[in-house]
Amino acid sequence: MIEKFIPDMYQKNIYTIDYKKLKNIGIRCLLFDLDNTIAPFNMKKPSKKIKDLIEKLKDMGFRVVLFSNAGKKKLTPFKEKLEVDCAASCKKPSKTKYLKVLKKYKLSENEVAIIGDQLLTDVLGGNRVGIFTTLINPISKNEIIFSRFNRIIENIIIKRLNKKGLFEKGKYYD
Ligand SMILES: [Mg+2]
Repeated sequence: MIEKFIPDMYQKNIYTIDYKKLKNIGIRCLLFDLDNTIAPFNMKKPSKKIKDLIEKLKDMGFRVVLFSNAGKKKLTPFKEKLEVDCAASCKKPSKTKYLKVLKKYKLSENEVAIIGDQLLTDVLGGNRVGIFTTLINPISKNEIIFSRFNRIIENIIIKRLNKKGLFEKGKYYD
């Protein structure tokens, strides 16, 4: 089912996303991947620019949750500085933690969006549970081994989607 890899929205980075549009279609909760989505892999705490964006989103009325495959230790400084909730060790694309978040905050699938840089984890997991999925380009090429392996598979999937006219790298849409 290659369609499960197609994001609902594709943007350059977290700053080019039209959050008003997400609000207008009924999204109330934003799940943000951490590594290479809101911060480069080796960044230990959030920058002012990230903090400002998260503040703006909270002011817009979104519940913001860090939703990462990384462990608690890595997420804690971000959670504290950004004053958001977090779900650690999510094992994306497993559905388990996505469903846990829906239940915890009493949200339905069409009220939640995942924003992440990987088709194989963030987007696939989100599409499997039926929430809104947004893909962005990874911030840097620096990644853990596991992600580097995922990228190889991802490139194969992108090539296939491209052939079918379903997705093209760098062709942004929302
Ligand atoms: Mg990532």
